[in-house]
Amino acid sequence: MSEFDFDLFVIGAGSGGVRASRVSAAYGARVAVAEEYRVGGTCVIRGCVPKKLLVYGAHFAEDLHDARRFGWNVPECSFDWPRLRDSVLGEVDRLNGLYTETLDKNKVTIFHERAIIEGPNAVRLASGKVVTAGRILIATGAWPVLPDIEGAEHGITSNEVFHLDKLPRRILIAGGGYIANEFAGIFHEFGSQVTIVNRSDTILRGYDEQLRDRLLQISMGKGIIFRFNAPFERIEKLEDGSLRAHLKGPGDPIDCDQILFAMGRKPHIAGLGLENAGIELNDQGAIKVDEQNRTNVESVYAVGDVTDRIQLTPVAIREGQAFADTVFGNTPRTVDYSCVPSAVFSQPPIASVGLTEAEARNKLGTIKVYSSDFRAMKNVLAGRNERSLYKLVCHGETGQVVGIHMIGPDAPEILQAAAIAVKAGLTKADFDDTVALHPSMAEELVLMK
Ligand code: NDP
Repeated sequence: MSEFDFDLFVIGAGSGGVRASRVSAAYGARVAVAEEYRVGGTCVIRGCVPKKLLVYGAHFAEDLHDARRFGWNVPECSFDWPRLRDSVLGEVDRLNGLYTETLDKNKVTIFHERAIIEGPNAVRLASGKVVTAGRILIATGAWPVLPDIEGAEHGITSNEVFHLDKLPRRILIAGGGYIANEFAGIFHEFGSQVTIVNRSDTILRGYDEQLRDRLLQISMGKGIIFRFNAPFERIEKLEDGSLRAHLKGPGDPIDCDQILFAMGRKPHIAGLGLENAGIELNDQGAIKVDEQNRTNVESVYAVGDVTDRIQLTPVAIREGQAFADTVFGNTPRTVDYSCVPSAVFSQPPIASVGLTEAEARNKLGTIKVYSSDFRAMKNVLAGRNERSLYKLVCHGETGQVVGIHMIGPDAPEILQAAAIAVKAGLTKADFDDTVALHPSMAEELVLMK
C-alpha cells in the first residue's frame, strides 16, 4: 500500500488537468483533482467554446444581410442577446456535466474546492483537509491581466463577458490581441459601437504583418474604431452609470457603457502555496518546467497556461497527455512545439501555421513567398468588398513550405488540414501537384504562381 492518499493530485480541472487526470487514472493511478470553479476550465467555461458560439451567433448579422442578394426575402430582424447568452451558457452547462462525468467514469476523485500546495507531496483543501499524493500536477491555467489604474474595477474581462445582462451600446476594448479582435467582431455584429484601444500601434503581434493589416483595414471599413499608442490613465464612472476612459497622449477621453480588458493572461499562481514546496518560477512569472513537465521539485509537475509555453488549449491537452504517458504509462513522451497552428476568430478569421515571412527571412535567409489576394465568390455575389489573403512562405532553395498564413472566411477550417502538409515538410511542388478542388476558397493554396 502506498504511503500517500493518492498517486496523483491535480490542481485545476481545465484542459490540461482533465486530460492528465483521466489518462493517468486509465493507466491505473489513484487520482484526485481539485477545482474551485467548474470542471472544464477556461476553454470550456469562459473561453474558446462559448466564444466560438458567440462568433457563430454574430456572423448571422452578415449572413442575414447577404441572404437578400441570394434571393431570400428577409424581413427586418432584431437580435436578442439574452436568448443567445442563455443558449450558450446552457451548452457550457452541458459540457461541464460531460467533463465531470468523464472524470467520474475514470474513478477520479473530484474535490470541488480550492487546493493549495502544502509541501512536495501534500495539498491543503479550502476545507482545511490535507491530502497527500505521490505526485502533484499544477494545471491552474492563466488569469486575465488588469491594468493598475484608478477605476480599473469598473471594467470587465473575458471571465465576465459571457454573462452580461444586456448588450452595451458602446464598448471599449482594451488590448489588440486575440480576445480584443474576436470580441470586437462579435460586439460589432451585434450592433454595439466598438472602440479598440491599444498601448502600441500593433494588433495581433506575432501574426503575419500583411494579414494583420488586412484585418485592420476590414475592421475599420466595418466601423470598428481603433485608438493606438494610447495607454490608460484612469477610468471614471459618470453619474448616468456610463464610463469615461482617460487615455495618455493626445485625443479626447472615450465615453462608453462597458470596458472589456483584453490585455493578456498571466499564469494563475497567486496564493497557490508554491513557496511551501520551493517551486521555482521563470522570468515571466510562469512555473518553470523541463521538457517532461517537471518543476525543480521532483514530485511536482505543471502543464498548460500556468507554464506559459504556448497559451493554447490543444497544447495544454498534449502536455497533460505527455505527462500521463510519461509518469504513469511508462511511455516517455515530450511535446513538439513546432508548427502549432493557431487562429483568431475575428470577422473574418485569421489562421496561421509555421514561420511568418519575417521570421523565415531571419531564419532561412533566402525565401520565396507566394500569395493569393482574392474576393471569395460568396462575397462577390453578396456585394461585400472584403478580400481574402493567403500566403505560402517557402524555403528559397528546397521549396519546403515553412509557413501558411490566411485571412478569409473559414480560414481556420482550411488551415487545420493544410497544417499537416507544413508539419510533414511538403514542398511548393507537392502543393502544385495536388489537383484543385473547384470551386472552393481552399483551392487557392494549390494554385499560387
Ligand atoms: P494577447 O496576448 O493576444 O494580447 C494582449 C494585448 O494586450 C496586446 O495587444 C498587448 O499589446 C496588450 N497588452 C499586454 N500587456 C499590456 C499592458 N500591461 N498594458 C496595456 N496593454 C497591454 O492577449 P489576450 O488577452 O487577447 O489573450 C490571452 C491569451 O489567450 C492569448 O495570448 C492566447 O494565447 C489565448 N487566446 C487564444 C485564442 C485563440 O486561440 N483563438 C482566443 C483568445 C485567447 P502589445 O501587443 O502592443 O504589446
